Amino acid sequence: MPDADALLDGLDPEQREVATTLRGPLCVIAGAGTGKTRAITHRMAYGVATGVYKPTEVLAVTFTVKAAGEMRERLRTLGAAGVQARTFHSAALRQARYFWPRVYGTEFPQILESKFGFVAEAARQLGVRADQATLRDLAGEIEWAKVSNVRPDDYGTEAVRRGRSVGDLDPGEVGAILRAYEQVKRDRGRIDMEDILLITAAILADEEAIAAEVRRQYRWFVVDEFQDVNPLQSTLLDLWLGGRDEVCVVGDPRQTIYTFAGASAAILGDFATRRFPDAPRIELVRNYRSTPQIVAAANEVFAGRGPSVTLGVRLQSQNQSGPPVEYRPFPDEIAEAEAIADRIEALHRQGVPYREMAVLYRINAQSEVYEEALGQRRIPYAVRGGQGFFSRPEVRQAVTLLRGAARAGEGSGSLPDDVRAVLAAMDFSDTPPTGRGAVRDRWESLKAIHTMAVELAEGRPDADLTALVADLDRRADQAYAPSTDGVTLATLHASKGLEWDAVFVSGVQEGTVPYVATMDDPQAVEEERRLFYVGITRARRHLMVSWSAARKPGGQARRKPSRFLDRLLPEEVRVTRAPRRRVTLPTTELDYDEALFERLRAWRKETAQEASKPAFTVFTDATLKAIAAVRPGSPEELLRVSGVGRSKLEAYGDAVLAIVSGD
Ligand code: ATP
Ligand code: MG
Repeated sequence: MPDADALLDGLDPEQREVATTLRGPLCVIAGAGTGKTRAITHRMAYGVATGVYKPTEVLAVTFTVKAAGEMRERLRTLGAAGVQARTFHSAALRQARYFWPRVYGTEFPQILESKFGFVAEAARQLGVRADQATLRDLAGEIEWAKVSNVRPDDYGTEAVRRGRSVGDLDPGEVGAILRAYEQVKRDRGRIDMEDILLITAAILADEEAIAAEVRRQYRWFVVDEFQDVNPLQSTLLDLWLGGRDEVCVVGDPRQTIYTFAGASAAILGDFATRRFPDAPRIELVRNYRSTPQIVAAANEVFAGRGPSVTLGVRLQSQNQSGPPVEYRPFPDEIAEAEAIADRIEALHRQGVPYREMAVLYRINAQSEVYEEALGQRRIPYAVRGGQGFFSRPEVRQAVTLLRGAARAGEGSGSLPDDVRAVLAAMDFSDTPPTGRGAVRDRWESLKAIHTMAVELAEGRPDADLTALVADLDRRADQAYAPSTDGVTLATLHASKGLEWDAVFVSGVQEGTVPYVATMDDPQAVEEERRLFYVGITRARRHLMVSWSAARKPGGQARRKPSRFLDRLLPEEVRVTRAPRRRVTLPTTELDYDEALFERLRAWRKETAQEASKPAFTVFTDATLKAIAAVRPGSPEELLRVSGVGRSKLEAYGDAVLAIVSGD
């Protein structure tokens, strides 16, 4: 066992204070990348080494299985192997399993792997028509209600009060499904994940002797990521404590991003103000993860915000200066993806491994353009916490339907209309569903396919369903085998707690970040702000924040950079918001040689037709304009044009250079 004082080496003064404040209650408010895990694992190890804690009497609770495993590993190397590090679920499950036979005299019920089947059955019983995505949203809503202590009978009023909805379902209907689901579950003698916590809480509340036994076993409690605690977990923690105050909580109010799932940062606020008003509060503000440039940007995201966020901390970077944070506007999402893929290639050439880079976006459907841009360049990648675009069930179903329609020779002459007609069988229409969740995700996927059809038709007016299916197959092929050693593609939510050398936070325009479905609820918009903050604080050294003015090439440049960028945009980018002034970016505003541009376009059209590809996949208009402006004289110069990467240089470089020099 290491000697106690040696455990304190390598901690900064505040972390050391956390580690040596062994008696509770203690509240640690820690910013992103300030070493929370480091501080609390050292605290437990120090308590054990000094003999204050018996290792088996310590219970450390974290939120994910992965985090719990990492904590156990750290504790082991610090000489505190006997400490229990668990998720709320696994700690509760252990107790519930152990005590259930004693209380109820029967075997512990079987746990439902997924709510899906029972939710479907409940909906069927009530005659509610619900597709797969709606069922998924219903399952999510059941989870929310259970962790938030909202009963089926109260659901209708609570849902209205808190502005919640599931698709087009009436809140009363949802409440009825909640009730029916519980009944189906009871009839089959099963329990779900939330029941595990509810059962444990019930046993501890009702059975004095058992509660006493559990409290004798655990005397010291530590909870990480406390900003994400939900009311049910908080109740369980109270029951474990049983009026004692040996508890240390760690959290960052600026990183609360699961409020919609029932998490409540108010619980963290209450801890220090109401529950334990005398608890010392230690702040960790020294950021060890990111460069001063990234830390400054992160701090600006909350600068000038109201009192609801003053609980969070301003970070101080401990690292050496790095490159500036890049803020880049693009004419459309294709140009944005191409530029990011080019930057990834460039960073890789400079020695940054692919697995040390991540592209983050707000919603799953956005992965498609990145899968394609990276696939085209043969850059390995992995979609984290989700499936690749073409593997998603709704996309596979849509492609199957389109293929069937193409084979049957259906078609009216307008590809976008034909696609809309085919996808109508999946209830797709141009109007997005209200709310967010699986239904909205599914619509976004179908919308992405529709957009591909519109783009294809613009590049090739004669394109029909057969051409679209060929184009979709090509895209699916290009999005080749995912690799764990590759670039991470992830939603902002899925990036939580992780870090990379280079991070691209993309699609940071109004309507996406903040997401359109949240925009009329100020609290939901604040959650989007925190989500953006989580995204940018993942970066160690390179950070690029980008947005695009239109969804697709040639579309109207209607989108504005996110309001979260208001304080961040440097002068030269900010001027793009004032239309008249000249800027270097985006390239569409460059002075270019129009005759040369037209020649390049003619060449592009031919090339695209030969390869049966939409024109913009050869080069976008913006790229051709940039080429016509720069007039590159060598492959190196051509490579420097935004939108031209290695693979495009290889495929088209000679032809383009010949056209440029030929006049
Ligand atoms: P997040 O809020 O994003 O989850 P966090 O507070 O959990 O971040 P960690 O991931 O624990 O922060 O730490 C961030 C990085 O800083 C890690 O790479 C960690 O090793 C390093 N670090 C933490 N404390 C120190 C220290 N005192 N000296 C050097 N490096 C440190
Ligand atoms: Mg962490």
